[in-house]
Amino acid sequence: MDSIIRFENVSKSFGTNNDVHALNNVNLDIERGSIFGIIGMSGAGKSTLIRTLNFLERPSSGTVFIDGDDLSKLSREGLRKKRQEIAMIFQQFNLLMQKNVIQNICLPMLAYKTQRAEALKKALEMLEVVGLSDKKDAYPSELSGGQRQRVAIARAIAYRPKILLCDEATSALDPSTTETILDTLKEINVKYGITIVLITHSMSVVERICDKVAILDKGRIAESGNVKEIFENPKSVEGKRLILNGVNIIPIMDTPNCVRITFTETSSFEPVIANMALTYRTPVNILYANTATIGKISYGEMILQLPLDNGVSDQMIQYLRSRGHNVDRINIREALGNA
Ligand code: ADP
Repeated sequence: MDSIIRFENVSKSFGTNNDVHALNNVNLDIERGSIFGIIGMSGAGKSTLIRTLNFLERPSSGTVFIDGDDLSKLSREGLRKKRQEIAMIFQQFNLLMQKNVIQNICLPMLAYKTQRAEALKKALEMLEVVGLSDKKDAYPSELSGGQRQRVAIARAIAYRPKILLCDEATSALDPSTTETILDTLKEINVKYGITIVLITHSMSVVERICDKVAILDKGRIAESGNVKEIFENPKSVEGKRLILNGVNIIPIMDTPNCVRITFTETSSFEPVIANMALTYRTPVNILYANTATIGKISYGEMILQLPLDNGVSDQMIQYLRSRGHNVDRINIREALGNA
């Protein structure tokens, strides 16, 4: 794998006694050109991880490699150059309110000594990429949240970084604006080959654009891999908790013989479930159903409560599997981390 980012045994502790372990022995490889999601609950260590990635935060131990270079071995000038290859966007946009859109985009380029005419040319090109050419003279106060984030994206990529870090970049936006911003990030990834690392607490953000994901929990990587595989079959307690997030019918799911089934066809579950109930002359409870789109493929998931009779429920699991569905027994207490 051609890794553009590599974490080797990275730990970071805070506090007077170094007793807050924000990162705990993190190993991570991020492939060049990919969109990589880092997901976890608040306090999991996501911000610390992203800040060690450009050495805004130095690890307490371990090594961070960017494009093959060990950041701790770079000179001050080398690190400054390296940071130019790593742009960042934030939840709160960080635009200068007294400057208009074009000035906001040009500012970092001018600071890095790009000629004014060249900076202006790039800024206009980037505005086109983010679909805001008609707002070049507007001030941030005249823009919506989504438009402000587009300006921040244009500013971040104007310098053609190799890596774009997105720190909860869509968390302040409504769901439909979030989707359009994520689609723009995907276009940028494809058009310029910029590797995107995105930290978020939202599984739907990961589902929409990420190729790979790492689930961070209490400073450790709970699991990582392809989004599709983890979504279909989360193995860690933290993964199960994030993927089942939003399920508010937990008490009735706290029963034996609950299964989670996933499907990738466009067909609905319902004939299969109905036919199964008819075949075994026993009803099943549908506790939860949801669909999501990962890449261009639609996925469905459903949580069923099967009959308490283990013989019947085992046969039902076989029945569902024989029809091509992915079926896992789930333990709701374990999935929610309070086993
Ligand atoms: P997340 O971004 O996932 O919410 P953070 O990386 O911000 O998590 O924080 C991880 C842990 O490290 C938390 O317990 C937080 O309180 C602690 N932490 C982060 N930065 C500092 C700091 N500068 N000083 C002390 N503790 C910190």
